[in-house]
Amino acid sequence: MILGHLAFSYILTQVTRLFGWELSGSEIALVMIAGSLIDLDLFVTFFIKKGISHRNFITHTPLGVFLIWLIFMVSLGQYFSFEADILVLMALLGHLVMDDSGYWLCRLGLQHIDNCSRISWLYPFKRYNNIGLMKRLGDVGGFFSDKYLKVAKASNILEVLLIIIAFSLFTYGR
Ligand SMILES: [Zn+2]
Repeated sequence: MILGHLAFSYILTQVTRLFGWELSGSEIALVMIAGSLIDLDLFVTFFIKKGISHRNFITHTPLGVFLIWLIFMVSLGQYFSFEADILVLMALLGHLVMDDSGYWLCRLGLQHIDNCSRISWLYPFKRYNNIGLMKRLGDVGGFFSDKYLKVAKASNILEVLLIIIAFSLFTYGR
């Protein structure tokens, strides 16, 4: 979903132009990086904690992204505009919304793989259990298998739509 996250963050920087929030090119890049950043925790599941979802880590919780944003604000926030600083937080939170979109598409009856939330929205008070989902993903061969692409059709269509919208905004919207 990395392209989906990049597209979503880019759309965010363009939609907020409607409110007069004009970002520089480097600030747009910053927001797009922020919108994809937390997926770096995937490397932990590749090399250290195999077999669990990286969405189980604190980095994929509202508390985690808020802490990341605080670190960004203290170290780099002063170098960017107020609007860019706010959009970094929105992109970080938007990443979580995007990651959980499969669940909401499932709730809407548009697909059936993600029947539980992937994001622990109430962490540290409540943590979701991803064992069932990981088993179902294992049964279809993982995120990148043909079978997953078929059972998660709505998620894939959403991602393609976001990419088309972002690309159109980039090409015609400036
Ligand atoms: Zn993610």
